Amino acid sequence: MQTPHKSGLQTWAQVAEWTLLGTFVCAIVSIAVNLTLFQGLDNDARLRALVSAVLLPVIFAFPLFLYLGLKVRDLESVNRRLSFIARTDSLTSCLNRGAFTARIEALLAEAPENFSGALLMIDADNFKAINDAYGHAMGDEALTIIARSIRAALRTGDLVGRMGGEEFAVFLPKVDERQAARIAERIRHCVNTADFNPEGRAHPLSVSVGGAAFEDRTSFSALFRIADRQLYGAKKAGRNFAAIVHVGDAPDIALRQHA
Ligand code: GH3
Ligand code: MG
Ligand code: MG
Repeated sequence: MQTPHKSGLQTWAQVAEWTLLGTFVCAIVSIAVNLTLFQGLDNDARLRALVSAVLLPVIFAFPLFLYLGLKVRDLESVNRRLSFIARTDSLTSCLNRGAFTARIEALLAEAPENFSGALLMIDADNFKAINDAYGHAMGDEALTIIARSIRAALRTGDLVGRMGGEEFAVFLPKVDERQAARIAERIRHCVNTADFNPEGRAHPLSVSVGGAAFEDRTSFSALFRIADRQLYGAKKAGRNFAAIVHVGDAPDIALRQHA
């Protein structure tokens, strides 16, 4: 889902390249300085000066650049890990709310005017009852199963975020209303048929899905409000249900003006 960042010093080849380049530059500078300082000497002395001009950088600069290169590589690796942790929900491995919102807002800001897509809001049904019946740890297990089922229903490039508690959001780029409805139905079905067996007994999970599909670029906050309203409608319709609407057909005129 995320393009790996390949710049900097991440691989052994990049560290070796940086070490050799650093040593080479030091050697060139050293040779230039030696040639300037010892140009009045005889050939034999100048040859010795040249040899030492190459040897000293190799002996001192090479290990120094190698050491620094490895340290920078370690720091970059820690940085990537921290950035991943800051963006990811630890229980479900989905993007967390802040990262999901920022990604979609950036995506919509950079997209062309005629960019189409859909935002789905997904809420686990009667989740409190699962916690009450089987305990919080089993509730956590159910949440990871729901997240896995949502991901299984998606295409490469779709984004999933955990918006908090038992609520998730999915962004579907380049879909129309019908495709968005099909994917929402696939999510509903995948969750509803997932295996969840607390205390050895099958307990079917279900989610309600509300969605807002758009054909012309719109704002995340407008999509969020429309999808959330649809989610409310899906709950009222009896749960385990998906309700998708085109932003142009959203009932609330004020929401359309926001888009
Ligand atoms: P509805 O179908 O109307 O959405 O009912 P619901 O029971 O799912 O909704 P409600 O808002 O009443 O309860 C949500 C529950 O989700 C309550 C809360 O304890 C539980 N919950 C939220 N986050 C977590 C979590 O990280 N782990 C666990 N185990 N439970 C959580
Ligand atoms: Mg719920
Ligand atoms: Mg909820």
